[in-house]
Amino acid sequence: MINYLLSNAFRTVTLSQTSVKIYESCSSLVLFCDSLHDKNISAFLSNEAEGLSTRFERLSFPDLVWSTISLNNHSLHTYPLGDIIERSVKQTVGSLFLNSPSISSTNIENRSDSDQFIREVYRVSDSVDTPSLLKEFLSNIFFNQCIVVLRSKSGRNTDFGYSYQYKNGNLVSLEEQLALRQGLLGKCKEMATALVPHIVRSFRKRVYTSKTRTVSEGLTSVLPFIQWNPTMNSSPGSKPHINILVGTKSRAILSLNYELDSAVQRIILDGIHKNVSFNLSDIESFVGHPLHSLTKDFLEIAFVVYISDLYVSRKSDYSRNLDILIPVRHPDIWERSGSKLENAISFLARDSVSLRFTAKNERRDDITSFNTSEESKCCCLFSGGVDSAAGVLWAINHGLSPTLISYASGNLSGIQSTLANQIERKTSYHPPHLKVSWQAARRRSGSYRLGERPNSMLYQHLRSFFYLAIAYAVALESSISSVYIFENGPIALNPLLSESHINTRTVHPRFLEYFQSAMQAVFETNISIENPFIYRTKSQLTSYIKNKRLANDIIPYTSSCFAYARVKTLAQKLDDYDYQGTHDGDCLPCIIRRISLIAGHIPAQCDEHLIDIFDIFESPSFLRLPNRSLDSLVTIADLLRFSECLLRMSVNEIQYNFPDLYVYSRNLDCARISNTYQRYAMETINSFRQQSSTRLSGILEPILSHEVNL
Ligand SMILES: [Zn+2]
Repeated sequence: MINYLLSNAFRTVTLSQTSVKIYESCSSLVLFCDSLHDKNISAFLSNEAEGLSTRFERLSFPDLVWSTISLNNHSLHTYPLGDIIERSVKQTVGSLFLNSPSISSTNIENRSDSDQFIREVYRVSDSVDTPSLLKEFLSNIFFNQCIVVLRSKSGRNTDFGYSYQYKNGNLVSLEEQLALRQGLLGKCKEMATALVPHIVRSFRKRVYTSKTRTVSEGLTSVLPFIQWNPTMNSSPGSKPHINILVGTKSRAILSLNYELDSAVQRIILDGIHKNVSFNLSDIESFVGHPLHSLTKDFLEIAFVVYISDLYVSRKSDYSRNLDILIPVRHPDIWERSGSKLENAISFLARDSVSLRFTAKNERRDDITSFNTSEESKCCCLFSGGVDSAAGVLWAINHGLSPTLISYASGNLSGIQSTLANQIERKTSYHPPHLKVSWQAARRRSGSYRLGERPNSMLYQHLRSFFYLAIAYAVALESSISSVYIFENGPIALNPLLSESHINTRTVHPRFLEYFQSAMQAVFETNISIENPFIYRTKSQLTSYIKNKRLANDIIPYTSSCFAYARVKTLAQKLDDYDYQGTHDGDCLPCIIRRISLIAGHIPAQCDEHLIDIFDIFESPSFLRLPNRSLDSLVTIADLLRFSECLLRMSVNEIQYNFPDLYVYSRNLDCARISNTYQRYAMETINSFRQQSSTRLSGILEPILSHEVNL
């Protein structure tokens, strides 16, 4: 079984790229281990200090180590394998503390003192030698690869995928899954033990290619059954590679300095050949004056990044290069700060990103400092969901005058306007509201036509970059000192409930930090970007609205559905031609919304859904769309298993099993994150216990009724 899983897991990557990534990550871990043995962790973390001031805390320590490694080696976190390596590094660092009673008993309410924690790190690392650390890391890599295949959608129809989730028509219990995982982990450890000597040998080689070749030889001898992807990576040329080109400059001229990709995508922002319509003039009329030339540059860069996300397809291993060449009015400033911007973009989508700038022949304004004196005003990202509605009320309640910024497409635009009107009616505050959208020009042919959008399951990872850029630009141009993005903690951190291929990081605290750092470098202002709801669950937000006696006036006008645009079509498929709602009811955001309504004791008339997940077997979707219902059931089961683990495991075990839960970020308090998740887990389990139909309860019973014991 393990051979089957590993063959499938590594099927899409080449042996050479795997060897390079394994070699690089192992070398970084050796440096980490050496710094522990030398009792000089600060030397290892020195580069991290540049962007993130170092503060040691037990729970965020693995992420601090990982962020140091990934900042020093940008290609490690990108696809392919980037997500697996990240997870495995954090688990490896977390494993140092798994059996450390003094740390596992640390009261998570109190942040441990930095110095005391570091002494504890040195103490536990005394008993760890480098080969055992590497063995732990490699077995985590193999294990995480196996588990992704085991529970991936493509695996559902195989025996392995099926037995992981269902058996004899019932959901597999958590205990059974854990036993399966322990068995797999044991086998992965055996393989890792055999690979470690090859890795150690690679360190002794002098030439880089010999080092990675030694790792390759190790991989083929330990995993002889893997059929690696034979595709050769194109060797880097001497000129910079470009696959997104902005403007109409001829290929012949550009080819003198750049290596243009055969599938280069051309984006034309202005002039008669324009192939996208995104009008800076809409933003100018909103702020009431012409935009500064540096702001114009920024908005065009952000828009091009977003269009690139939509139009550049990924390879079968999910990897993608976004090598963008864009003319700007202030190339010197962008060249100076471009790497920080690349960092923020690359973090969001795990893409390899490079931004190159040429001079745009347009008027340049003088660079003077941007005024941020309007401290009573703020820009709020306004998506039309419950969180953003609660956020606007929160801002008004804090004496702020919020300006709403929406990225609107299709019928979401109507939802946002109606909700903004409701807020205005109920608070007597008239919020300025900017709605931005874009369209591809209706050009059917010709050399400047925008290509076809690839059909991908990984899509719109970079939308929030564009969305936040608009809010930031409005703040800059309106002297506003703060930008708020409202998202409850569990969605903002968005940890994997269980292993699968993707998790987006739209409002991730680290992304917000990288974004802000890039903006400070470019605009030299201190406009803050904050998510005030990072320690709140969604039900606390619905309660917040209810406590203002606005539940009936606000909540029915919000929409949280992931698939809001397809709800009507789905309703018709289920013969519900009169359905007027905007929630399908069974996507993860809809499930979390319903939990928040139940846990927040929100009146039933605020609840609206096409499919009732608490009574899924009675829903027409169960008969008509059995696969969809099966997916919903898996989502529910994953959510409940995740919640059970949070309530029953020790902090060390939680961190080890859900390594992306605890993030190292300025001002982020992991103890408060723990409390938020405990509350979230209780709300989730209680909602399902109270609301589930008898049949659903019966199916969920194996997940809910047993103690978790690792
Ligand atoms: Zn939905």
